[in-house]
Amino acid sequence: MTFVATVRWAARQLLDSALPPRCAGCGAITSEVGLFCAACWPEVEFLGSVPDGCERCGGAVGPSGSSAVCPDGSSPIGRLRAAVAYGDIARSLAIRLKYGRKTAVAATMASYMRRPLAELTPGALLVPVPLHRGRLWSRGFNQAALIAAALGKAGGHASEPMLLRRVRGTPKLKGMSPRERRKTVKGAFELRRPFSVQGKDIILVDDVMTTGSTAEECARLLKREGARSVELIAWARVVR
Ligand SMILES: [Zn+2]
Ligand SMILES: [Zn+2]
Repeated sequence: MTFVATVRWAARQLLDSALPPRCAGCGAITSEVGLFCAACWPEVEFLGSVPDGCERCGGAVGPSGSSAVCPDGSSPIGRLRAAVAYGDIARSLAIRLKYGRKTAVAATMASYMRRPLAELTPGALLVPVPLHRGRLWSRGFNQAALIAAALGKAGGHASEPMLLRRVRGTPKLKGMSPRERRKTVKGAFELRRPFSVQGKDIILVDDVMTTGSTAEECARLLKREGARSVELIAWARVVR
């Protein structure tokens, strides 16, 4: 975050705390900060872990012995969890986090991400998946970093918002084959400080996980740089 953006963000946070809490899904006034209102709550599909489900993603295991999101074991991401399935309200929050009441939205996301986060490595370092610099500057902040900060505060994890850096932009990965996606994101990130992740457990933080290719490229880099484990927590995951 730039200095100006940080000051603006802090001012916004003060302002937000003086106003009645609102539902991050629809804007209705609610009794508690960070929770959905009674109308939005049933519209959200929470992705709790299935008993005897896939160890990697927590999802149900099909007849083939693997879950829908983990068809093979080649991913550098050990385990991944998301709070909700990507749908209208999940998308609305991701958009509001970019353009709206950022701290309130990040608090709501974090309050529902805490439980899935608790299934991952305790005390691991939270590292947001970085945006391209151009995009970061035009918007003034990285939304994944806001989520990581909100999550870290609540769950006893340290967060390092600037650890990874995107060195080039990538086109939209939608519609590409897994191989093409992997090729497209290859080398798109670097570590700001070499040797800073050796022996560490890392949890990548993202707002919406679609193909997972971007986070996987970050994980590959972190592993190459000596991270002991890399996992992923996202607000929402595209399920179907
Ligand atoms: Zn609502
Ligand atoms: Zn799985």
